[in-house]
Amino acid sequence: TAKRAAQLLSTQNIRSLFDPVEAFLFDCDGVIWKGDKLIDGVSETLDWLRSKGKKLVFVTNNSLKSRIQYAKKFHSLGISVAEDEIFSSSFAAAMYLKVNNFPQEKKVYVIGGEGILEELQIAGFTGLGGPEDGEKRVELKPNSLFEHDKSVGAVVVGIDPRINYYKLQYGTLCIRENPGCLFIATNRDAVGHMTDLQEWPGAGSMVAAMCGSTEREPIVVGKPSTFMMDFLLEKFHINTSKMCMVGDRLDTDILFGQNAGCKTLLVLSGVTTQTTLQDPSNNVQPDYYTSQVSDLLRLLGP
Ligand code: PLP
Ligand code: CA
Repeated sequence: TAKRAAQLLSTQNIRSLFDPVEAFLFDCDGVIWKGDKLIDGVSETLDWLRSKGKKLVFVTNNSLKSRIQYAKKFHSLGISVAEDEIFSSSFAAAMYLKVNNFPQEKKVYVIGGEGILEELQIAGFTGLGGPEDGEKRVELKPNSLFEHDKSVGAVVVGIDPRINYYKLQYGTLCIRENPGCLFIATNRDAVGHMTDLQEWPGAGSMVAAMCGSTEREPIVVGKPSTFMMDFLLEKFHINTSKMCMVGDRLDTDILFGQNAGCKTLLVLSGVTTQTTLQDPSNNVQPDYYTSQVSDLLRLLGP
């Protein structure tokens, strides 16, 4: 069945979106910033939304940073955001282990960045790998086994700019030699902004590499999975129908919002163009679309 086409946000329809919404959930890259560069008008718009009593939440699939590191990034861009208003896929990975009672004496092998290791540590888990294994080399010696820690009970895979064959071997052995080992992906984004103008392969490529060698499918904790929604609700106690998810990617952000029962607003300041949105082969339609976040202020503000 054909989905109802997204409506362009305008002075005529914005109140029906804005008035009932108690919390705006913002995706970060492509919405708030591109790489480390703030998108025009975001700061004023967020201040204005807060002044109107709206709760603000930030949901990012980029697992390179922890919530603490993201709070610092927001601060350095001149936006004051508390750590517990940020939901990153790195945090989600640690929370997945926590809510599933992952034993603290078991270890977690990480193909990914510092953010995942920091969140694991905060949650009381022992992480191995990550940046530390970035320089490890493949050594092929006759009559010798590849050594890996047998107490690893989970492998977490996220974006890893220093992924190498050693890490793939380590993670693969943990999973292949222990059928009970969890295989968790922070997200499966195809690409991500490493700077404002440069897009590089995202976590999807690292996750796909591990799917290939393990012949297993991961548990995905980032968008579009609604796993993070439970933690969001624990903090905000707002019915998801009174939330609006604002994002730039159809297959992660908009799907996440729809899967959770939120209103959805697509912004065209990131990866999705109007042409993609309106392509007949695209079956994800947000409720509304607009060019950028500051349109909220432009259409409704003083
Ligand atoms: N993953 C990586 C590695 C990225 O660089 C990005 C964006 O830059 C993302 C994911 C997507 O992040 P977000 O969910 O904030 O758009
Ligand atoms: Ca995005």
